[in-house]
Amino acid sequence: MSATPKPDALLSIRSIDKYFGTYHALRDVSLDVAHGEFVALLGPSGCGKTTLLRCIAGFLSPDSGTIRIGGEDVTRLPPHRRPLNTVFQHYALFPHLSILDNVAYGPRRHGVARGEALERAREALELVGLDSAAGRHPRELSGGQQQRVALARAFVNRPKLLLLDEPLSALDLKLRKRMQIELKHLQEKLGIAFVFVTHDQEEAMSMANRIVVMNRGVIEQVGDGRAIYTRPASRFVADFIGEANLLPGTAEGDAGVRLAVGSALLPHLGADTRQRYTAVLRPEHVELLKEPEAPGLITDQGFVEDVIDTGGQTVVTVRVGEHLLASRRLGMAGEGLNPGAPVFVGFRPGHVHIIAEPATHRSGP
Ligand code: ATP
Repeated sequence: MSATPKPDALLSIRSIDKYFGTYHALRDVSLDVAHGEFVALLGPSGCGKTTLLRCIAGFLSPDSGTIRIGGEDVTRLPPHRRPLNTVFQHYALFPHLSILDNVAYGPRRHGVARGEALERAREALELVGLDSAAGRHPRELSGGQQQRVALARAFVNRPKLLLLDEPLSALDLKLRKRMQIELKHLQEKLGIAFVFVTHDQEEAMSMANRIVVMNRGVIEQVGDGRAIYTRPASRFVADFIGEANLLPGTAEGDAGVRLAVGSALLPHLGADTRQRYTAVLRPEHVELLKEPEAPGLITDQGFVEDVIDTGGQTVVTVRVGEHLLASRRLGMAGEGLNPGAPVFVGFRPGHVHIIAEPATHRSGP
């Protein structure tokens, strides 16, 4: 990743490291976020998403590196002096204050006159569709409504940058889906840049302009949902995002990479015999065939290992030599296929994505 901040970046993080004792929680993390952009930090539990968010917010101090917001170095500034707001998973509202006063509390603390603070709070509540609940108290609202109040409390300050730490995870699935859409619309309407922590890839895919995939304190890949799904940068990303068949490939110098299944030679510039190669093939791109050959497809013979039919879709796992290959189809595609039955698999070369891995790759097999 480039070490030079992008001139138009709202948030610019450069080479930050964070240790908890001897534990290296963030390793040389750099990231730019543009004005109005929706960026999701995605990764498995413990990968460092919240630590990164807390460094941006100022609740944690990185051990090295810099954080700039709007060009200003904020690395050593306390949270309240940073031009941003944070929304947490647990929306600690003041139980004894009305909804309106909860939202007006921030501006009041920053010295805004009561009349104006209330006016701004009303506007913010209108944005989240809760203006009619202004006089109620938090205990009189549902979980989803309380989370909307927490958002209004952030919007009332009209920050350019909003940090959100799994803000929807306390909500039930249906409400969560609805709030995802609402939040995305609000973000676009207000033009506020969001940095949104989630471990839910569907949430990240459906909301964010760019997704930052993290693993063990490292950014593995930054890209839009399509790019990280179709062109994962590492074996970890391929495996973490969606489902993937991961097959070993062998470098044959300039000729390319030879696949373990179908033994096809795929062109790969400068394939290095000292490196490991992994071919990524999504289950929806693996076809099951009755014949050993099909035009345009790389084919191989295998035996059905198992068939899982979920009603809407069928996943058939086929053993090809020592490798397992999953094939996913909509509908009841598994009919007539029983474990042990011989079957041919086929896939297009264009659907195979090849990843070169350094011998000492961090994420390992
Ligand atoms: P989750 O999705 O579970 O919240 P996360 O990706 O947000 O995970 P972090 O909370 O950033 O993960 O934690 C990253 C790593 O740092 C974890 O191994 C965690 O145990 C460790 N860690 C976080 N905070 C502290 C702390 N205050 N002291 C010691 N270790 C910490």
